Amino acid sequence: MGTVAVFETKTMLTLPGDAVRQIQWRFADRFDLQMLVQSARNVARGTVARLVAAGERNTHEWTAGKAQMLKAFDRAGVTAAFMEPEEGGFISGPKNLALALAAFELAWVDGGAATASLAGFLALSPIHERGTQAQVTRYKTLAAPPQPGDDRQPWRGAFALTEPIPYVGVDTGMLSGKVRVAEWKDGHEPWLQVDKRGRFITNIAFANFVTAAVNSDDPRIKGSCVVILEEGDEGSFDRGTPTKKLVHQLSSTGDPIFNLKVPANRIVGGYTVKDDVIVPNFNHGEIIEAVFRRTRVPVGLMTAAKLLSAVEPVIRYQRQRFRGAEGSKPGSLRYEQGIQQREDALHRLVDIWATGEAATSLGFAAARLFDELDPLEKHKTALLKERGIQGGRAELKALKESEQRAIELLSLKPGNPRRAELASDPLVDFVLKDAEANVICPATKLWNTGHGANMMREAVSLMGGYGITEDCPGFLANKWMDAQLEATYEGPEAVQRRQLTVTMTSEVFLAQFRAWTTAARRIASNHPGTGACTVASAMNMWLWTLNYLRKSTYPEGGKLYHGQRQGVTFALADALCWLLASRYQILDVLELEARGADDAVAAEGLEGTVQFLSDLCHIQAAHAAGETSRICAELVFGYNRHPAWEDEAHRACFLASELEEYEVTMPGIAAFAVDVLAADGAHPQKAGPCAGCAGNSEFLRLQNKLTSCLSGCRLAKDRAAGTVSRVVIPEALDYPA
Ligand SMILES: Cc1cc2nc3c(=O)[nH]c(=O)nc-3n(C[C@H](O)[C@H](O)[C@H](O)COP(=O)(O)OP(=O)(O)OC[C@H]3O[C@@H](n4cnc5c(N)ncnc54)[C@H](O)[C@@H]3O)c2cc1C
Repeated sequence: MGTVAVFETKTMLTLPGDAVRQIQWRFADRFDLQMLVQSARNVARGTVARLVAAGERNTHEWTAGKAQMLKAFDRAGVTAAFMEPEEGGFISGPKNLALALAAFELAWVDGGAATASLAGFLALSPIHERGTQAQVTRYKTLAAPPQPGDDRQPWRGAFALTEPIPYVGVDTGMLSGKVRVAEWKDGHEPWLQVDKRGRFITNIAFANFVTAAVNSDDPRIKGSCVVILEEGDEGSFDRGTPTKKLVHQLSSTGDPIFNLKVPANRIVGGYTVKDDVIVPNFNHGEIIEAVFRRTRVPVGLMTAAKLLSAVEPVIRYQRQRFRGAEGSKPGSLRYEQGIQQREDALHRLVDIWATGEAATSLGFAAARLFDELDPLEKHKTALLKERGIQGGRAELKALKESEQRAIELLSLKPGNPRRAELASDPLVDFVLKDAEANVICPATKLWNTGHGANMMREAVSLMGGYGITEDCPGFLANKWMDAQLEATYEGPEAVQRRQLTVTMTSEVFLAQFRAWTTAARRIASNHPGTGACTVASAMNMWLWTLNYLRKSTYPEGGKLYHGQRQGVTFALADALCWLLASRYQILDVLELEARGADDAVAAEGLEGTVQFLSDLCHIQAAHAAGETSRICAELVFGYNRHPAWEDEAHRACFLASELEEYEVTMPGIAAFAVDVLAADGAHPQKAGPCAGCAGNSEFLRLQNKLTSCLSGCRLAKDRAAGTVSRVVIPEALDYPA
């Protein structure tokens, strides 16, 4: 009986359900978001799954079936999730978490479906972020889905930044799209001639409007801007040929060519006229930065959804693998457990699951952070405007002071009366959240999609041959390939790494990072099974390595930590992402543990669920530590030339004759000496005397400690594997194969 009681209280019996997820991802008190999740899920597991099963991914063309999917989004409220209530929406306030949740649900079944929905929001985002009020009202109202009984067709949009080679790709500054003054009568609005060719533009088969990035080709227009093009504008709105994609075929992609005449009020964010020159209020770079900053988060969550969606089909496949065979009778281990009798199969699935949890936690943390940041950003702009500061250098200078206050706040001990004063300063709050968002947005896009794509391959491999067929439940092979697009569009990995190398060294971020390290130790003292201590040790090593590299130079001179040295900076950015993903994963499990009992559904079997999810944290923390240790060791040691036997360095070696002498007074020393030279100069067969470097001993101390922090991580994996072998799953997947 005793064993059964332990089993019931400590082991997770069923897959984590909505009640658990709502607590972890912090929308348990948001009924509007819970409804959105349910309706997006119905579209995904209904309309979308049927389209995939019917082979609609086998054509590049835009089909009636794919068009039905957009209508299903409209009916389910997915389209309206972007709009304010007065524009035809139903969610008030910031919508980053809402859009992320909808994308997550859609991508659980098909990435192309999620992209088709997100691309419409991407088209509206330049207008939403920086548009004039008139632009916002016009396009968001037109794009809002019709109310029941209204047969109006909502407008669909596309976002056109990327251009045919050799222009815009990763480098968004290399714009070839042009804007000129077509007509400018005295006292009237100027008209503009826009020539833009796009490459890989999503939604283009049916877009009614396009937000396009263009450069001035006219001395009467300053710089660059984003312009809104409509299909009814005078000129040519050529949608081009569909792209022959291997991925995301449920979305439409093509290479359009636009030659259109539009009024100057289509410049996103408006313009002023100075000395007879049209000066856009925002250049294309400013707008794109504000847009991508937010829209890259749901893309990262799309890959996270795929990883978690793979768990149930893999478990089912593994368990049923031998059923029906002569020697596999019901009740036998072979019949009941199938491939799950084998440790490796369980361990690999646990690794995929742990990655999915970490990616999801990181992504939703980023989405929530932007929901907090949006009003703070508006408040900041208003406060600075009161002081006569509007953008540019003056703003940067004013915020510098707030940054110092933020760093001071982080350095104060609890109970210090100045804490309350600094913590209540909205500008301090803004710079803290802004610095965190600047790091965790690119981290989500980079790690979730890049590492996620690698782990999707693992998921496919666990299904054997079935994995790479169209019949594979959960469409895992599609999801694997699709993940690569998620890693590419809205800026591929190099763009995210480039951004991280700048933002992760901000003093405000680093001060927070130090505080998080201390907090992780505190968490570990109460929750040792989460791997929080391992993460803290790895964070220490990362910080030590950053400081070391910032002071170090190449053997020939020249700084190691430098924007042009992507071999150094990008690698360190990669390591950071592992640590962040682990950190947010742990925080979500702590939230579940703290609040789960308040919810009747989540409370059932809570202890077992928390135990299992903590074990996944522990496993992931060990992976993160391993990656950090590998990357940091390569960077710390890898830029020193290895000593050679011919070098001066060999002077530090013992001579064999010396050792014989020392042996008299120090018996045993010969056994410890590694680089011993014979009288004729002969040396051991290896690259050279063992290398050391300036920070050698300190780094090795940290690495030693980190290695011993791995204690218990494989026990956690065994426990998690045991749960995976017993957890109850539904009889059949709730969407078709
Ligand atoms: C299906 C699909 C849909 C898309 N939808 C849209 C859309 O709706 N709107 C839109 O505007 N665009 C869209 N894109 C374009 C997409 O955003 C770009 O493909 C992407 O940004 C990469 O640009 P590129 O293809 O020119 O790659 P490149 O710029 O040629 O990059 C190739 C490789 O070189 C690396 N690289 C490039 N520069 C650097 C550097 N400075 N440092 C280090 N490495 C570097 C990159 O990381 C990458 O690995 C879409 C693309 C696809 C495939």
